[in-house]
Amino acid sequence: MTPQRNEPEKLIYRLRNIREAYPRLLLFEKNKAGLVEELTSVQRDARTFGETHVRPVALELDRKMHEDSGHFDWNLVKKGMEYGFLSYIIPKPFGGKGYFTTHFAVLMEELCSHCPGVGNIFGAHALGLTPILMSPDIRHYARYMQPVARAEKRGEPLLFALAITEPEAGSDVEDADEYPSARLTTHARKVDGGYILNGRKVFISNGSVARYIWVGAVLDKKRPIETSVSLMVPSTAKGFSVGRVEKKMGQRACPAAELIFEDVFVPEEDRVGDEGEGERLIGLVLGASRGPVGAIATGIARGAFERLLDYLNTTKANGRYLFEHQWCQIMLTDLMTKIQIARQLYFDSALCCDLLGVPKLMNHPLMKMLDLVPEVLMQSGMAKRFFTSQWMYGFVKRLAERNIRTDDVSLIASYSSMAKYVASDIAVEVTSKAMEIMGEDGPVAAYGIEKLYRDAKLTQIYEGTNQINRLYAFKNCLCHK
Ligand SMILES: Cc1cc2nc3c(=O)[nH]c(=O)nc-3n(C[C@H](O)[C@H](O)[C@H](O)COP(=O)(O)OP(=O)(O)OC[C@H]3O[C@@H](n4cnc5c(N)ncnc54)[C@H](O)[C@@H]3O)c2cc1C
Repeated sequence: MTPQRNEPEKLIYRLRNIREAYPRLLLFEKNKAGLVEELTSVQRDARTFGETHVRPVALELDRKMHEDSGHFDWNLVKKGMEYGFLSYIIPKPFGGKGYFTTHFAVLMEELCSHCPGVGNIFGAHALGLTPILMSPDIRHYARYMQPVARAEKRGEPLLFALAITEPEAGSDVEDADEYPSARLTTHARKVDGGYILNGRKVFISNGSVARYIWVGAVLDKKRPIETSVSLMVPSTAKGFSVGRVEKKMGQRACPAAELIFEDVFVPEEDRVGDEGEGERLIGLVLGASRGPVGAIATGIARGAFERLLDYLNTTKANGRYLFEHQWCQIMLTDLMTKIQIARQLYFDSALCCDLLGVPKLMNHPLMKMLDLVPEVLMQSGMAKRFFTSQWMYGFVKRLAERNIRTDDVSLIASYSSMAKYVASDIAVEVTSKAMEIMGEDGPVAAYGIEKLYRDAKLTQIYEGTNQINRLYAFKNCLCHK
């Protein structure tokens, strides 16, 4: 071993503030100072919540959920609600924080560096709200989002979930080209005043604890795309039940459940968007959500890296700290660089979604006017009737058609797929290498890295496996028809 000059006294991972984590934000400081300030406050709140309430209980929660997959820590959710985590992406006029994908991704990295299972409770909730936001069916902003924000202020958790995956259809449902040949079983039949829904969904995050579930279904299995619909189903609906809650290897704090729909009546007004728009909506949702999945994975990698540094700062082998060896320094630098690659990818993808996709509508001057309407007026009968009117829905829909370019939707989809698969592969690599560096201590549960390794694996699978995401990036970025 080559003797080292200027050996460090202590290892520190420099991420003290938002500028250190995302240097490109420095470019925004002049023109977008508000965004930088908002992201700073997101990072600060998430860090405080994570350090105070999540990290101290993460291992114990993981153990409890392994013994009883029906357990759910409502208390932790309520603590997160004090920071407004359930209403992050709800537009301000409807009582939320009015934050977008970028804010949400920063939140996910922070929370998941403490416990990805807990982070994913808030992540899956936002995923359930995303189709409403993306539709953009403003009638439902008042119907579904406002109650979430109001319940949060009262301290009552009202969780959402999103149900796409079925026992025999997963990757194919998430891809427009494969959708027509997917073996879909969830079926909606048109009846007077609404639909009768039958079918089964599996592996639905928050499925067993959500109050509302967004469900993708088809009216005619022979014409799945043209007849795809998205329906909001309350957990109190007659005919709805929760089946198996999975005993899974990681992210245990967030339950994944089987959901059963037996002749569930869904009123027509609980359909999000028009008939035939369900599949398109899935594409928009995944374009917005895969970036934040990259952030979940980045958080996991960073959580493992931070725990590794704590270990290296306190553990000596043969009288020397491991980090005094060059082989260790090279490995650490490599891991740090990979985490930064993952972070920049998800950050770009989230920004891309906010600046080019549906969230940009919220910055349209006409939508901005909504911000000026006091919340109390938004709750009045007259305002509610106006905002939930067919006219308002048509207006926002036309605004979306005029302002969002198909090419940009494709760009968002490819960037978010890249962020998802690269960051999740990095998360698995970093957690695995961290354990290797620690030798026999690596797999010891008490150090917390073994748990993060299990947590990381899941990010390669959900929101489309990494193979599917590679194909998606290929189709959207390299393959022009
Ligand atoms: C912890 C967890 C939470 C989840 N949460 C949710 C949720 O909240 N909501 C929800 O709807 N779903 C959820 N899912 C489901 C998840 O999105 C699916 O598992 C995922 O999309 C893969 O689908 P599948 O399991 O049907 O795999 P399959 O589609 O059957 O794929 C099996 C294998 O074949 C490969 N494969 C399939 N098609 C191709 C192809 N064309 N080319 C190359 N390879 C291919 C896949 O990459 C994979 O390796 C969750 C899953 C997990 C594990």
